[in-house]
Amino acid sequence: MRRSAADWLDRIRALNLPGKVRIMNVCGGHERSITRAGLRHALPPEIELIPGPGCPVCVCPEEDVHLAIQLAMREDLTLATFGDMLRVPVNVRKSEVRSLEQARAAGADVVPVASPQEAVELARAAPGRRVVFFAAGFETTTAPVAAMMAQGVPENLALLLSGRRTFPAVGMLLSSGEVGFDALIAPGHVCTVMGPEEWEVVATSYRVPAAIAGFDSESLLVAIHSVLRQTLEGRPRLDNCYPALVQPGGNPVARRLLSEVMVVTDAAWRGIGTIAASGYALRPAFAVHDARKVLPDHAEAGRRRIGEMPAGCDCAAVVLGRIYPDQCRIFGAACTPRTPVGPCMVSDEGACRIWWSGGGRS
Ligand code: SF4
Repeated sequence: MRRSAADWLDRIRALNLPGKVRIMNVCGGHERSITRAGLRHALPPEIELIPGPGCPVCVCPEEDVHLAIQLAMREDLTLATFGDMLRVPVNVRKSEVRSLEQARAAGADVVPVASPQEAVELARAAPGRRVVFFAAGFETTTAPVAAMMAQGVPENLALLLSGRRTFPAVGMLLSSGEVGFDALIAPGHVCTVMGPEEWEVVATSYRVPAAIAGFDSESLLVAIHSVLRQTLEGRPRLDNCYPALVQPGGNPVARRLLSEVMVVTDAAWRGIGTIAASGYALRPAFAVHDARKVLPDHAEAGRRRIGEMPAGCDCAAVVLGRIYPDQCRIFGAACTPRTPVGPCMVSDEGACRIWWSGGGRS
């Protein structure tokens, strides 16, 4: 018998929890569902739900956004990117162009796209003009980008790739000695593509209860109930609470395309630094379409900004679950969706944006 969200809430409330249990999620979609459904308010007060590194736009390093802006300002070039990257600010003087949106207002040819295919169509429609596709995302977004490259793209299309792998950030937290959470909700979409196996070490090596969840309240409550039961029983495991879509081995086609087109590499995360094996780079066979290689002067301009963060911005602490969004010093004051200081207030998957529009801890 399939239980409703209300049933799962009752089952969670009936558990005899020994004290506080901090459960981290690593998916902007999870955080949005939790906040919109008011789960923090509905669950017993011992349960803390912590948003973690689940927003790819938020972790995209400043140097990549800066590089994209520099490229966009070239008159001979069109810059295509996913829409939620447009308003991400970089830390430059007020008189300088601070975002791709400002670049567009200043006359740059910046085009928001909803899919890699739209970037291909832009390039096909203007064969004499270079189109750079700035693609930031986790595995779920990067796999379609790999498919685009594998199918063959027009000569005039270059890719500025800022792809990231989700697990290494969680692995870094787990091995840091300052874990900051007692249980983990693993991301359903990423596991659908990459398979659940990577997340098993959370339970087997680090003894942290874990469950993979889908995106509605019911699925999240099933996963929350699972990790609480695991906590009470003292038997951590990775529970697949999204079996309709998450299968062993993930999506073999997507994984094959990712490995044919890209290599895993160490990568910078905004405000956090370099995390080993946490990013993707194009294989040498695709170098003629790699914006970092075919536009090297601009790549150097981007490198000069490594590690930059706006003054007062606590995005890195929010992304790592060290503080709640409303504990940032400028949340709701200097930083609002109208005047974002950091990317977490820009992206639909950013915890600050979600908390601002959804009532935060309620
Ligand atoms: Fe970053 Fe703004 Fe959130 Fe602070 S409130 S963490 S500056 S996005």
